[in-house]
Amino acid sequence: TLDQAKLKAFENAAAGHDGVLSDESGEMIIKPCTGHEIAFYQESLQHHPKFYELMPLFMGTLQLGAPANVPDVTAPSEPADLTQDQKDKQLLHGQKIATETAIVLENLEHGFKKPNVLDLKLGALLYDPEQTKPEKAERLDKVAAETTSGSLNFRIAGMKVWNGKEYDVYDKFYGRKFNAENIKDGFAAFFSSLGAASRPDDARELLETILAEITKARHSLERSESRMYSASVLIVYEGDADALDTLMGNPPKTPRVDERAPTNFEIKKSQEEEDEDEEQPPVTHRVKMIDFAHAAWTPGKGRDENVIKGLKNIEDQMDVLIARFE
Ligand code: ADP
Ligand code: MN
Repeated sequence: TLDQAKLKAFENAAAGHDGVLSDESGEMIIKPCTGHEIAFYQESLQHHPKFYELMPLFMGTLQLGAPANVPDVTAPSEPADLTQDQKDKQLLHGQKIATETAIVLENLEHGFKKPNVLDLKLGALLYDPEQTKPEKAERLDKVAAETTSGSLNFRIAGMKVWNGKEYDVYDKFYGRKFNAENIKDGFAAFFSSLGAASRPDDARELLETILAEITKARHSLERSESRMYSASVLIVYEGDADALDTLMGNPPKTPRVDERAPTNFEIKKSQEEEDEDEEQPPVTHRVKMIDFAHAAWTPGKGRDENVIKGLKNIEDQMDVLIARFE
């Protein structure tokens, strides 16, 4: 369960509002949000399992500002086809207290040594035309017209990249400066550590895997009837060059001090520790769709070209980058 007294600020967001929290272990993030976004997670979990695979795991809701130590996490109601792994991650039911509502999600940065994070905001139309006041609509249309949101149906909303010593942080204004011709430089900056550290084959393999995940998201939306305004694709990959090398199956560059083979006892013990350890094995990357404050399943409305075009253009940019490693 979650101990509210031990929540901490989530310092590692790539973009978006302040106020995102993380639990003590860092496995979950707690994001203040609207009931609409929670409803979208519920509905996706229950009725759109293919698309739900592309979302962070939904672990429940939380009323912020409640007294410490009160187990007031409310688990999402379970659909029949939840995997055991997903069930294991669901939190316990508890009482609700009327305060600010937050959503509890799998932290997509968890498990990485140095997560590099890129937030790509989708769509040329960035608001629901039926729900938005003219002033806000005008403001968002202007931003779209001046950025790749307008020309490519996506823009870089923010990113952070480990440079070997510290994080280079790129704020929302960084991504607004690109046009359709030079946006490739933004992708090159995000994936810059791949050029330096790893072998070209590994870099290409990783980029191709990330590309395949984005294609999967597009295919899913091409078969759906939905509208998502200002949702994002969040791309995370391991920014620690040595950790990535090891994950890609390469032996460490610096030989270990202890070269002796492990004894049977040691093998058994580490096996047991692994069994006890519920944590997922480390991964090279994660690609997920996030930010559903203005998203809805809309039967009868047809596919969401506004978002599909953006995903297609991101795929094209990934192709441009992959070609550099060939
Ligand atoms: P908003 O843009 O409305 O503030 P988002 O859902 O886009 O809300 O979240 C803001 C930022 O928080 C994102 O840019 C991302 O960096 C981070 N974030 C959101 N959800 C997750 C998650 N499940 N795991 C890790 N980081 C996340
Ligand atoms: Mn966002």
